[in-house]
Amino acid sequence: MFGFIKKSLGKTTEAIKTVVPKTKKTITKDELEDILLEADVEYPLVEIILNEIYQEKITREILLPKLLATFAYTSYKEPEFNSPFVELIVGVNGAGKTTTIAKLANRYKEEGKSVILGAADTFRAAAIEQLTLWANKLEIPIISSQQGHDPSAVAYDTIDSAKAKNIDHVIIDTAGRLHTQTNLGNELKKIVRICNKAHEGSPHRTLLIIDGTQGNSAIAQAKAFNEMIGVDGIIITKLDGTAKGGSVFSIAYALELPILYVGTGEKPENLVKFDKYEFVDGILDAIFEEEKPQEEQQDKTEKTVTEELKQIEKTPSTDNKAVIEETLLEKEKTQEIDHKEEALQEFLKNERLVLLQRISDEKVLVNYANTPVDTTIIYQEKKWRYEHL
Ligand code: GDP
Repeated sequence: MFGFIKKSLGKTTEAIKTVVPKTKKTITKDELEDILLEADVEYPLVEIILNEIYQEKITREILLPKLLATFAYTSYKEPEFNSPFVELIVGVNGAGKTTTIAKLANRYKEEGKSVILGAADTFRAAAIEQLTLWANKLEIPIISSQQGHDPSAVAYDTIDSAKAKNIDHVIIDTAGRLHTQTNLGNELKKIVRICNKAHEGSPHRTLLIIDGTQGNSAIAQAKAFNEMIGVDGIIITKLDGTAKGGSVFSIAYALELPILYVGTGEKPENLVKFDKYEFVDGILDAIFEEEKPQEEQQDKTEKTVTEELKQIEKTPSTDNKAVIEETLLEKEKTQEIDHKEEALQEFLKNERLVLLQRISDEKVLVNYANTPVDTTIIYQEKKWRYEHL
């Protein structure tokens, strides 16, 4: 799956390229400000990020933790539930709700789970038709009613049917717009109450679908839904079709809700689990020169040393022994450095730490991706560990 998020950032990368046409080792604060604004990060968040950076020349390592920190309050805990797992899908019309429901259903099916859909957007006949088309295409059952019928009755019947047939997943579509916001709020609240009646504890998850092409303007809308019924997670659609990828930072920061998936195309398989590390990497790759993968570098060192040794062996000289010993010693030293580096990367990964600054070869300043607390780790007896425990 790796790489899909980065690929879908193509348009955002193009927007960033208008500020830095060629990737660089370092950028200035002015350039960073322009990059973030071009990518549609909201200005208040741009200011916060800039205020946290005191260096003149900004490197990838400096920017990485600052961007990751915008996701600080978005952690997600899987809900506990008794089967079936009931999900309510909310969001404005056109955001990609129907398509995303199909994508989720397809995903569960691929995991070997059974799925049923509930067409509870009874306000629009087109919504019922479209969802039915998807259900037929994916060969999954759907419960629907006529336009104008009570949507909570559809929700009840869908859950009831899932219980009777031992279906694992229930996905319920809801209206994106009614005559007034109050009407919509009341309708959604009623659906939630009825779900709980049909299956206690449900809905287990309410997901808000946000149209990625709307960028920051989707934030106010999302807040309204969250206030209406409480949202557990977000899915951002159409990331592939927008240059506003930076708004993902503002959405996460402003809403303090986890982004669970992103839509990367119109097909059922174009739904990718959101990974903040991959997302941030994708943005950083558009700005900074790529570092050579470590393995490649290590290979190169190995090869050069071996070739060098072969060359020496071929050359008849009385000093050969000394030269070979020296070369071997060099090799050992290189291996030690490689090991230290490898172990460091492993430690950072396992502990979910972000490298802030290399104080020395054997001491590094780090922080947890989700907290503003910095700490130091040190290399001792061929291992990295926290300096102060
Ligand atoms: P709804 O009104 O919220 O149910 O929205 P739809 O599911 O009908 O989607 C609206 C349009 O957006 C359709 O043309 C979809 O094909 C398109 N769409 C949805 N998700 C994505 C996505 O992740 N990428 C792209 N490129 N298009 C999408």
